[in-house]
Amino acid sequence: MERYQPIFKEGIYNHDKDMIVDQHNINLQHEYDNLNHILFNNELKKILLKWSSLKNVGAKVVSIGIKNKPETWEIQRMEVSTFMEVTYENFINILAHEMVHVYLIQNHKAEFGGGHGLFFQQEKDKINKMGHGIHVTNTEDITTGRISSNIKGKTVGVVLFPEKHNIQIYDEKSMPDIIKTYNDFPESWKERNKVIFILSDNKELMKYPIKRGYKYGQKFFTYPIEKSLFDELHKTGKVIGEIK
Ligand SMILES: [Zn+2]
Repeated sequence: MERYQPIFKEGIYNHDKDMIVDQHNINLQHEYDNLNHILFNNELKKILLKWSSLKNVGAKVVSIGIKNKPETWEIQRMEVSTFMEVTYENFINILAHEMVHVYLIQNHKAEFGGGHGLFFQQEKDKINKMGHGIHVTNTEDITTGRISSNIKGKTVGVVLFPEKHNIQIYDEKSMPDIIKTYNDFPESWKERNKVIFILSDNKELMKYPIKRGYKYGQKFFTYPIEKSLFDELHKTGKVIGEIK
């Protein structure tokens, strides 16, 4: 086998910008090395890079150390998510964003509260103005996109609250218990609230944590969703219970 050598092409992009990224067509180390070379003058140290199925963010840098002592911070790894469908252009923006975090952590520049403070802004602006067409944003949130076609949906139980377009999600097996829990609620509550219990295999539901059952006294995890998705769930789901 030939040893892996980073090949630096003429620019930032080694692939078609519209290519949908997955772990089979992207070499994370290669892309990291390339951006390190072009954007960071090779100042970033090598770190462990790995694919993951993070749901809420496109990528994250995991580091250890004492919270208020940036000099103790050390990077453990960077995870890049394959959960959402991301174009190569977008992937490069996300990677550059995370590499700003790497830069700041390695240089012990403290960014309290979310990590997108003044130092982050400075580095972000520098990169965005380099003229490579890179657009580093202030957030790693990509949940507005589409779920990757590699992610398989599965049947889950959903509690629909039609008045507010809120939902709760449970694994399928928990649903009889959940329905019973709601039916045991006081009559006064049931008179005021309409609830529909369904089973659904809609893939969009995979964005949310799926709860296993409900224990008395526990907090309910309720998520507001867009009306269009709510209506779709209501229309296509299999109704297994109802509080009218
Ligand atoms: Zn960030």
